[in-house]
Amino acid sequence: KGDRKTYLVTGGAGFIGANFVLKARQQNWVERIINLDKLTYAGNLQTLASLVDDPGYVFVRGDIGNQELVSYLLQQYQPDAIVNFAAESHVDRSIVNPGQFIHTNVVGTFDLLEATRKYWQGLANPEQFRFLHVSTDEVYGSLDRTDPAFSETTAYAPNSPYAASKAAADHLVRAYHHTYGLPTLTTNCSNNYGPFQFPEKLIPLMILNALEGKPLPVYGDGQNIRDWLYVEDHCDAIYTVLNNAAIGTTYNIGGESEEANIDVVTLICNLLDEIKPQPGLERKSLITFVTDRPGHDRRYAIDCRKLKQDLGWQPQESFKSGLRKTIEWYLANGFWIEQVRSGAYQDWLQQNYGQR
Ligand code: NAD
Repeated sequence: KGDRKTYLVTGGAGFIGANFVLKARQQNWVERIINLDKLTYAGNLQTLASLVDDPGYVFVRGDIGNQELVSYLLQQYQPDAIVNFAAESHVDRSIVNPGQFIHTNVVGTFDLLEATRKYWQGLANPEQFRFLHVSTDEVYGSLDRTDPAFSETTAYAPNSPYAASKAAADHLVRAYHHTYGLPTLTTNCSNNYGPFQFPEKLIPLMILNALEGKPLPVYGDGQNIRDWLYVEDHCDAIYTVLNNAAIGTTYNIGGESEEANIDVVTLICNLLDEIKPQPGLERKSLITFVTDRPGHDRRYAIDCRKLKQDLGWQPQESFKSGLRKTIEWYLANGFWIEQVRSGAYQDWLQQNYGQR
């Protein structure tokens, strides 16, 4: 158990943030969690329904870019750590509509840092405080097959608007530590998968399409390589860094599971054929190659030895065991999927919060 009592988590209704909030409450990591989330299309309170009666959990709908609101929440709840998950996170959307990514990921992170700096400067016990910024390995750009994996000292070379916006945010966090002494931490993680992931991302999209007998669209030649980490392992890593890392440091987090996209999709098909066979259908036959994403990075690979060696973190799931768990979760949670896909959730938001 860490020695902090209250976290302010941003973006805690999204995929990774919600897994973190649920785990933090289940494991009693802290006494109280405040979840500030704007509830964009990617935020879903259904995921957190089990916490409605939990006195240690507070949900606030709002924008990290609203300094006044953030300052109010900081004064009101006096957190001793902030974990910043809030972001626009989907690369394809960043290609179509980059403005929103700059707005939230860059300007929003700046506003959050500003409100945090003012609060932190007034704390009686400022050395206890931490600001942990959750980022991605995409800031490092793309690798060739034989290049060594990204380490914490690899130069930033972001290629998509999403990656560039996260890189800018990482630089701001670094500058706030260097300039003002704000006790920051940054984690750069590889691709996550697991329960509650919005079905626009590769793994849930493929699981759900395969279950419905729909085509499985794979970009280009399918040979783009990503490192994959089960989301709970990511949450554990964040908790470990938050409570044990030296301030101002950066840690890479990865699953040491490099997989070509085509192999990920094929494995999903094979696991589904085994767990939920559909007579007469071999799901691999649904794979369809589609025009590649513009500027599609070829390979990401992450060297997370620093985290393992310094802080003793280890992923608990292999890619295969984590993928099996994920498929079983999607099979058992049809209600959640239906809500997310049908727009019923958006209608509920409209009724309860007066806006979508
Ligand atoms: P997500 O898109 O599922 O969730 C993002 C959440 O942030 C949503 O709940 C959304 O409503 C909220 N949000 C968006 N804009 C906001 C704003 N202006 N103010 C407050 N809340 C806002 O994303 P995710 O996959 O859970 O990723 C979380 C974080 O982890 C992101 O910062 C992302 O860059 C990073 N990350 C993700 C992955 C991955 O594989 N998903 C890997 C490495 C790092």
